[in-house]
Amino acid sequence: MEDRHEKYIVVAFGGNAFQTKGEKGSVENYWKNAYRSAEFLVKIIKEGYKVAITHGNGPQVGIIAEWMLAGKKLKGLEVMTLDIAGAMSQGWLGYLIQQSLYNKLKEEGLLNGGIVKGIVTIVTQTIVDKNDPAFQNPTKYIGPWYDEAEAKKLAEEFGWTVKPDPRGGWRRVVPSPDPKGHVEIDAVKKLLDEGFIVIASGGGGIPVYYDEKGLLHGVEAVIDKDLAGERLATAIGAGTFMILTDVDKVYINFGKPDQKPIDVMTVSEAKKYLEEGHFKPGSMGPKVLAAIRFIENGGKQAIIAHLTKAYEALKGETGTRIIPD
Ligand code: ADP
Ligand code: MG
Repeated sequence: MEDRHEKYIVVAFGGNAFQTKGEKGSVENYWKNAYRSAEFLVKIIKEGYKVAITHGNGPQVGIIAEWMLAGKKLKGLEVMTLDIAGAMSQGWLGYLIQQSLYNKLKEEGLLNGGIVKGIVTIVTQTIVDKNDPAFQNPTKYIGPWYDEAEAKKLAEEFGWTVKPDPRGGWRRVVPSPDPKGHVEIDAVKKLLDEGFIVIASGGGGIPVYYDEKGLLHGVEAVIDKDLAGERLATAIGAGTFMILTDVDKVYINFGKPDQKPIDVMTVSEAKKYLEEGHFKPGSMGPKVLAAIRFIENGGKQAIIAHLTKAYEALKGETGTRIIPD
């Protein structure tokens, strides 16, 4: 097990942190949302935390897929693969965070001569097992909705798997393999140790596998950003892993009349609730699983909280804390 750094923290932003549900995904809104996040990150940094940031990319990869298909239809442009789209999304969101955080830290006099040396986004590759059973059973819906005929045509042309979406229409589905670790992890550690803020493992990272020769290759898959965030938090020896989303706390009996918010749960309690089906697969399920893994791997606390309450949650005033037994 790694040494724990009490004041190292990984903050994971939900896919909707930068493009809020129901809000127009305009450039102005992306910046507005980036600055909102930068504001509470500055508060955390001021408390002496060394921060690594990760984020989801579901909405952005969907948009990139739409752009590529439109480009193909209108101009005959080539469509890129999903791993490349993932890399694009890391640059897109990483840039927004880098610049908004830079400006906020600059205003506060915390840059350069201050406590932060700089802010760096790392295009991050996440290692998966080529034999992960997930590859036999694609489950993750991505990108635009199509009618059946077009979906099947695209599937044939690009070798995609397409399925009817329970919400209507047809969509592409891809596997969601379990993340093992990050290729660039030593660079992340080094930069954090040196006083940089690092943005890494965006969108769960670009899924890659090692071949027999130890060489890397990208695969078309989507890695859960919370599970990948745990790999990052554990590898850097963070004391705290904070997952920010759009609910204030984790609930048992969520959505039912007797739903009950959880302030603190031990790993054993979290495991029991998870087994009892209190946390939906694909949303709260992977967050709680990531929290459990983080604590079992030696982490001090995992926090699941609302995006706008990150600082308060870190102080223990809101959110759900998952702690050792
Ligand atoms: P993110 O983009 O932040 O990963 P998700 O939509 O994947 O967001 O996960 C957050 C959602 O999980 C909440 O909006 C909520 O609807 C859902 N959810 C499922 N089960 C629970 C639960 N037991 N307690 C709280 N939220 C839950
Ligand atoms: Mg999610």
